[in-house]
Amino acid sequence: MYCNYCGKVIQDESNVCAYCGTHVAASAARKRLVRPRQGRKIAGVCMGFAEYFDVDVTFVRVVWLIASFTTVIGMVSYPIAWIVIPEEPLLLQSEAAAPRPVASS
Ligand SMILES: [Zn+2]
Repeated sequence: MYCNYCGKVIQDESNVCAYCGTHVAASAARKRLVRPRQGRKIAGVCMGFAEYFDVDVTFVRVVWLIASFTTVIGMVSYPIAWIVIPEEPLLLQSEAAAPRPVASS
């Protein structure tokens, strides 16, 4: 991983940057709320929340759908989240993309 402050490459398990002495473990481990590019249904908002809170994406979608039909907050929160939550960077996507089995018939 990289140090967020000096940008140098540091060991993954290190807590403190060897170059600038900055505590890096917490910031490096912190998840960012982004809209994933893969597996999304509409804008990836539910998918992003599911990954951020480490819950099932179907659960998030069902709860959000019910909230959208029952409350005004639920209805307006999706487009707001769509605008506010950044899209997953392309760099992260290619980095996280694990080799997938090729679908063959
Ligand atoms: Zn550093």
